[in-house]
Amino acid sequence: MEGLMEGSLYRSMLESLNNSAKVIKLNPNVYERLKVPRRALILGVPVKMDDGRVHMFSGYRVQHNQTLGPFKGGLRYHPSVTLSEVAGLAALMTFKNSLLGLPLGGGKGGIQVDPGKLSKNELEHLTRRFTSELNTFIGPDKDIPAPDVGTDSQTMAWMLDTYSLEMGYSNTGVVTGKPVEIGGSLGRDSATGLGVVYIIEKALATMGRKLSGSTLAVQGFGKVGMHAAIEAYALGAKVVGVSDVSGALYNPNGINIGDLVRYTKENKFIKGFPEAEAINNEELLALDVDILAPCALDGVITEENVESIKAQIIVEGANGPMTTAASDYLNKRGCMVVPDILANGGGVVVSYFEWVQDIVWLFWSEEEVRSKLKTIMYRSFDKVWEFASKNKQSMRVSAMAVSLQRLEKAMLLRGQAW
Ligand code: NAD
Repeated sequence: MEGLMEGSLYRSMLESLNNSAKVIKLNPNVYERLKVPRRALILGVPVKMDDGRVHMFSGYRVQHNQTLGPFKGGLRYHPSVTLSEVAGLAALMTFKNSLLGLPLGGGKGGIQVDPGKLSKNELEHLTRRFTSELNTFIGPDKDIPAPDVGTDSQTMAWMLDTYSLEMGYSNTGVVTGKPVEIGGSLGRDSATGLGVVYIIEKALATMGRKLSGSTLAVQGFGKVGMHAAIEAYALGAKVVGVSDVSGALYNPNGINIGDLVRYTKENKFIKGFPEAEAINNEELLALDVDILAPCALDGVITEENVESIKAQIIVEGANGPMTTAASDYLNKRGCMVVPDILANGGGVVVSYFEWVQDIVWLFWSEEEVRSKLKTIMYRSFDKVWEFASKNKQSMRVSAMAVSLQRLEKAMLLRGQAW
């Protein structure tokens, strides 16, 4: 498993695990087991491309821990996906699910591919073959994939169909983040972004402040960032900065997010939106705002640019957007950094709701989903805040500590750490 250490995301996950393990004096046997995944699969996935040539894609599925329930985590399509990155993300899912109190373990998958360069036909073949290769390792009681960067509800629909064909019956609980028509949950699309906003509300409340009128900058305008911006705007926040892969926008009076969403539907990217000034992504991160929500990529705030950050609260919508050193620096400066395993947990919470609804075949209204999500996000924030206040630790150390305490109890009860 040494190869896993090659990636910065895995190393930063381990650093975070180590820091919190020391604070709670985690059982050393529990620590040993959590350091590495249970299972890491490397798959060569053949696809007959539209021009007739066969291309082999590298696919991965890492199953980190299933003490609390089946492995659960997204599937990423991106050219820079590596086994190490997927393994780091799988471990983060274990910690996130434990922290949020869900009956789920942690897993993650990925394929090294630029989905924008494949036709729909090629993407479908890639997804179906990958699912087929994984068939015996996934399932509603084993491992439940969901969308992540570069994948969406259509990807999940193909996975569900392939798995069901091979099992001989329709088995909707094998994936979450599916279209509503085939067993998806209402409110899943906006869940991660909405969860980010609930966490922003709680973070502001610790300072005696409200979301309405606060200024916010969001990096990334995809599944997480766009919905975070929509929900925050609806609740009266002033979204002064937004970015995506095409560039960034700034309007000190606040960007009309409804207009921007309509603009991106027509133009794909935010670039060229007329009601804001064009800036670059580094300038967006450095905006003088109350809250910064990095919701795009990992490793965007590092020792190199951390001194330029002015936000008072940073809520990690993306997984691993900040290095541990950058996070420590900001904490010392009095900035509250709410870590990914808490801040972006809304997605997996509603994935959990979807899985439950598929098992019982009883579907909830969107209001019910949103209200149950709010309860879990608020409760999880409170637990972390309480630990942080009592033990004088950062939110990052505290979130991991609260998560590890639950995992430690469960692993000891199950006799997994002797
Ligand atoms: P996505 O592919 O839907 O969106 C990513 C966004 O980031 C896009 O708008 C893209 O243009 C933008 N982007 C790419 N490169 C950029 C750059 N250099 N600068 C600024 N913006 C850039 O992906 P997503 O599902 O929104 O995921 C984003 C992050 O959130 C990932 O780290 C993912 O693991 C994490 N996450 C996603 C979910 C979920 O439910 N989708 C849940 C938890 C965590």
